[in-house]
Amino acid sequence: MPPVFPGVKANSLEELADKLELDRATFMQTLTEYNDNCHVGHFDHTALDDCHTQGITPAKTHWARPIDTAPFYGYALRPGVTFTYLGLKVDDTSAVRFNDQPSRNLFVAGEMMAGNVLGKGYTAGVGMSIGTAFGRIAGRNAALAAQGKPAVAGAVSDQ
Ligand SMILES: Cc1cc2nc3c(=O)[nH]c(=O)nc-3n(C[C@H](O)[C@H](O)[C@H](O)COP(=O)(O)OP(=O)(O)OC[C@H]3O[C@@H](n4cnc5c(N)ncnc54)[C@H](O)[C@@H]3O)c2cc1C
Repeated sequence: MPPVFPGVKANSLEELADKLELDRATFMQTLTEYNDNCHVGHFDHTALDDCHTQGITPAKTHWARPIDTAPFYGYALRPGVTFTYLGLKVDDTSAVRFNDQPSRNLFVAGEMMAGNVLGKGYTAGVGMSIGTAFGRIAGRNAALAAQGKPAVAGAVSDQ
């Protein structure tokens, strides 16, 4: 896929450091260390291949190949957390379960339950879906709990 942002292109690694506004010496030291510690086997981007680094931290455990052939491309990235992969156990009323019993007055939605829903991977839009769908269920049941009424499973109408 083409990148969303154009990034920068350079004919040497030093030029790439300059274009990314990174300290040249530190950049070259990091890159040289990486390149020198690449153990290239059979590169296969479709599988967890055997191209890896050894002796550097953090390790690149697959798809490690030396960065040594121009032109070089660089992209400034800002890491972020998209999902947590652990969450509270809930049921279809959004009640948190303690010792496999539903809490009377603690209901959660969205990220708080993401680990349970995303146990086997990611489906697009699931973050927003569990936030909105279970948010409505949790809100409704929290209001019912405040009135001393039992929680209702699943979606309910306003009537
Ligand atoms: C970069 C990125 C990309 C994503 N892309 C997608 C996507 O394409 N599709 C998708 O479905 N999901 C995506 N997600 C995930 C999705 O955004 C989240 O799963 C979803 O927003 C979680 O909703 P939430 O209501 O559980 O939590 P949040 O949206 O985190 O809401 C929690 C709210 O609580 C507030 N808060 C925290 N502490 C307090 C406090 N003490 N008092 C009062 N308020 C407080 C916070 O300010 C925040 O507004 C993405 C997430 C990220 C970070």
